[in-house]
Amino acid sequence: MSTSALYSFHSPCIVAGPCAAESREQILICAEALASDSRISFLRAGVWKPRTRPGGFEGIGEPALQWLALAQQKYGIRVCVEVATPDHVRAAQMAGITSFWLGARTTSDPFAVEAVVRALQPGDGPIFVKNPISPDLDLWIGAIERLRRMGHSQVIAVLRGFYPRSPGRYRNTPHWDVALTLRTRMSDIPILCDPSHIAGKREEVPFVARRAYDFSLDGLFVEVHPSPDDALSDARQQLTPAAFFAMLDALPLSPVPSILPPDEELLELRAMIDSIDNQILDLIAERMSTVEQIGRWKMAHNQLPFQRVRWRSLLFHHLRYGRLLGLDVRFVRNLCELVHTESLRIQGMQRGENRELED
Ligand code: PEP
Ligand code: MN
Repeated sequence: MSTSALYSFHSPCIVAGPCAAESREQILICAEALASDSRISFLRAGVWKPRTRPGGFEGIGEPALQWLALAQQKYGIRVCVEVATPDHVRAAQMAGITSFWLGARTTSDPFAVEAVVRALQPGDGPIFVKNPISPDLDLWIGAIERLRRMGHSQVIAVLRGFYPRSPGRYRNTPHWDVALTLRTRMSDIPILCDPSHIAGKREEVPFVARRAYDFSLDGLFVEVHPSPDDALSDARQQLTPAAFFAMLDALPLSPVPSILPPDEELLELRAMIDSIDNQILDLIAERMSTVEQIGRWKMAHNQLPFQRVRWRSLLFHHLRYGRLLGLDVRFVRNLCELVHTESLRIQGMQRGENRELED
């Protein structure tokens, strides 16, 4: 894990603290524990909690800012809070807090992002930008761009997972590929992982954090509470400071050199991979030209591109064959869906449809 030299804290960037500020005592206990470990750069705590439905714990609001300001002063640890409106930003600034995060719901709303960005002051930051609720990379990038356009250079993305299509192992599906594509498209933006909101339960948090390390993300954004079972929000997923430190101890946090010395065996293996990738692309191009021939046949016989029975039997066959080859079933399904969608797009284009897809 590593973070660019542009940022004023050490690398990797570790942010930790309770889901919500609940009491003066809770904040001071937490701040003292976290400030005692030099690996931690920021104390996080929610002051205004976005609730999907009304009636839950909506955060303490402004009084909590005083506890956080005190923690910042007393223990010298920088504090960041979630802001969703210009009023939140101004209240935090008045308390001397200048680092913020945009939550998943805020990142999903360009009007809210724009309003928050306009309330920031030039020296504020870093600003952490959680991914939006749905795996829409452009929405995530859009929020980052809105900040940068206004001159805020210390922007850090946080992968907190995406609303799952169906209940699964995690509370939020990580979609590591979305974070990796963000890295390709905005190579200078550090990306942290929030394993707490991905996992949803504390037993799984270290495993998700380890995955983030394997994907070379730039740090962690973790929920830590002095007494997680008594937490007023997200009790299941918060770690005690001791469990959190144990998790960090188990992670090889020092940066791995990203430029490897030339090594014959690796060069040979990479040449093999390159050649296999070329063959895959050649075969896909051949497949798509066959798809066009089928498209012409379908038009001549007045058939629509999508044929449900054919698609189901094809998918069934490929999933079974993929399993025999030892491939991950979700991977095979995603691949089949991707290829099939592209085939339908091509056949739709032949019929003069799908023009909107080209916009
Ligand atoms: C949080 O970090 O406590 C939070 C509400 O996060 P998210 O916006 O990722 O749901
Ligand atoms: Mn939370």
